[in-house]
Amino acid sequence: MSSIRSGTYRAAGEKSEIRNPKSEILSFGRQRMIALRDLWRTYHVGDSDVHALRDVALEIERGDYLAVMGPSGSGKSTLLNILGCLDRPTSGSYSFGGRDVGLLSDAERTRLRQSEIGFVFQFFHLLPRLTAQGNVELPMLFAGVSRTERRQRAARALGAVGLSDRVHHRPDQLSGGQRQRVAIARAVVMEPGLLLADEPTGNLDRAAAVEVMELLGSMNADGQTVVLVTHDPEVGSKARSAVRMDDGEIVEKR
Ligand code: ADP
Ligand code: MG
Repeated sequence: MSSIRSGTYRAAGEKSEIRNPKSEILSFGRQRMIALRDLWRTYHVGDSDVHALRDVALEIERGDYLAVMGPSGSGKSTLLNILGCLDRPTSGSYSFGGRDVGLLSDAERTRLRQSEIGFVFQFFHLLPRLTAQGNVELPMLFAGVSRTERRQRAARALGAVGLSDRVHHRPDQLSGGQRQRVAIARAVVMEPGLLLADEPTGNLDRAAAVEVMELLGSMNADGQTVVLVTHDPEVGSKARSAVRMDDGEIVEKR
């Protein structure tokens, strides 16, 4: 966190707004996308309770790029999984785009997740038997998008992450960085409001990690809201804002 505290974050944020006039327009009249209030997530293990999240409060604006930092076991993934509607809090409220997620039925939450949330994981989670194209088509298949449109949109999404020449490759025929870019294309192909990434560079070498961070940065400059989990201060310093977690609590915000 020290690089963020020393002002690197602010300088980086200012630079990107000067460089990209679009992000200045977007930052004008910011809208709140997410509000978490009094959020707890407690696991019961044997006779004891593990508080993975303790009284978390957080607001995320549309167009933000937030890094969730903190040591292993501090609750980062638990928080991201709740944001992504993969998990529910034990208590507290989660509002997304003005809707109380806790009041939605399972079907409504699934629809919210499919249409509004894209997920990127440390270990890519690509289907090994499908090509890059097939993997990127999957969310559209679940959403009932026609075959022709799936083809076109997958090709466009793979082009946008610089993989036009790898559409017919399977994951085992791609480098780690390329696999993660396929996963990012899959995550954004439904044009979600929110892109969540849990340690997306954790399994990559430096060069590939830099590529992935540049890709996330340029997507954010184009207006994509991004929440990134990382324990790596250098990776976290690329975001516009950051929170630091410790033992289930948010202990620092900037
Ligand atoms: P991080 O992503 O920051 O490493 P996690 O959110 O994965 O942390 O975990 C936060 C805490 O919750 C840890 O103490 C972890 O052991 C505990 N935890 C996570 N998932 C479970 C689970 N399914 N059952 C019990 N405890 C869990
Ligand atoms: Mg984690």
